[in-house]
Amino acid sequence: MRHIAIIGSGPAGYYSAEAAQKKYGDDVTVDIIDRLPVPFGLIRTGVAPDHQSIKAVSRRYEKTALGENVHFVGNVTVGTDVSIEELRSLYDAVILATGAPNDRPLTIAGSELPGVIGSAAFVGWYNGHPDFADLNPPLDGKSIVVIGNGNVALDVARILSKTEDEFAGSDIVAHALDQLRHSKIEKITFLGRRGPYQIAMTPKELGELGHLDRAVPIAASEDFPAEEEDAALEPGVRKSVGHLRSFLPNSGEETGKPIAIEFDFFAMPVAIEGDGKVEKIIVEKTQLDDEMRAQATGETYSLDCSVVISCIGYRTPPIDNVPYDEGQGRFANVDGRISPGLYCVGWARRGPTGTIGTNKPDGFAIIETVAEDIGDGGGKAGRDGLNKLFNDRAVEAVTFRDWKKIEEAEVANARIGAPREKFTDIEAMIAARKP
Ligand code: NAP
Repeated sequence: MRHIAIIGSGPAGYYSAEAAQKKYGDDVTVDIIDRLPVPFGLIRTGVAPDHQSIKAVSRRYEKTALGENVHFVGNVTVGTDVSIEELRSLYDAVILATGAPNDRPLTIAGSELPGVIGSAAFVGWYNGHPDFADLNPPLDGKSIVVIGNGNVALDVARILSKTEDEFAGSDIVAHALDQLRHSKIEKITFLGRRGPYQIAMTPKELGELGHLDRAVPIAASEDFPAEEEDAALEPGVRKSVGHLRSFLPNSGEETGKPIAIEFDFFAMPVAIEGDGKVEKIIVEKTQLDDEMRAQATGETYSLDCSVVISCIGYRTPPIDNVPYDEGQGRFANVDGRISPGLYCVGWARRGPTGTIGTNKPDGFAIIETVAEDIGDGGGKAGRDGLNKLFNDRAVEAVTFRDWKKIEEAEVANARIGAPREKFTDIEAMIAARKP
């Protein structure tokens, strides 16, 4: 019998568990440990609430979770309730599937001012993550700047723009819906330090921006090369650039909507200024060098705004005594192996790139690596050992059956048309699992 502990119950964690189940059948136990009492990580608290079809993948994870040999062990913090060293002594393999929940820091002057918000906090807020439920972002100003040209920036701008009706069928949490209902936003500006050809927004998601009830995307012709040059682009980027071109003035896109979403390309933020809170952002124009890197030109301008949301990527938080790659912001590893017996997978392995689906081959690959190292297993105590340790420490873990009760209560609390109303604090989640 082999015993595997997976830390993190998001896509990378559940695909790894599924792979272990498929490889070993009944000859494995898999315990999926999570700090929250609720599973599915990024699916629950990262994927946008109006992208329910993406969130539906959790049904596949549920199938894995309901297997005899897979256990969800929620409400357990590694490093506090149990250490990595203890887990390594109890399990043949410990797989870190902890994602990349921390913002890559924005290091410009003024980034500590109230009103500067990282995407982890903003996304966590509208998705009901307990860590960010009290964020209370100031949405009473007219202009918001969103730094970054990736899909997270796009999610943030779309959520800020939608009307209440457009959130029908979503699971945006009540506190966010209520605050957005009262927002005074008229302009959202994307700051991209490079150009349209370097856009990291993907076509389907970018296309959605052109169909919002009260917001219109606007790009500026002078930022674009001649249209015939698009032919040389990789197909995905070419499609995205096609959408951007449809946002040019006179492109037939409807105008006159109350919110403008402006694409400001070749625009690098250099400082945020304000008297006790964000009032403006200073931007420097850039040009690209031969390696397509943004180089400052010395020409600056300022944009008035009351909120700056930084969507410039994420980092995996380090764990004591686990080798860490500071430059890349993830665990130091070779193909997911940190050392024999200790592994990482998903964003914790490769950094915050790719789609949810990218984690599937990742999860299956890591189990092959684990298999090379652990053979038939080393007679470790596994789940029984963990339970004994929890008994000794009075740690109360949340099971998958408990989660189903929490979920039942969330579904029962849903507003009309919504799939659920999430609990946003840990105490309420834990209380809801009681019969
Ligand atoms: P991302 O795709 O890597 O985009 C990050 C953006 O931030 C890039 O435009 C980057 O510009 C910019 N940036 C980085 N450092 C910067 C700095 N110091 N100053 C200014 N700009 C800076 O990351 P993401 O948006 O966080 O998304 C993470 C992953 O999740 C991606 O794979 C994404 O596709 C995926 N995702 C998918 C969806 C979906 O709906 N399908 C939704 C959300 C996220 P440069 O290109 O110049 O570095």
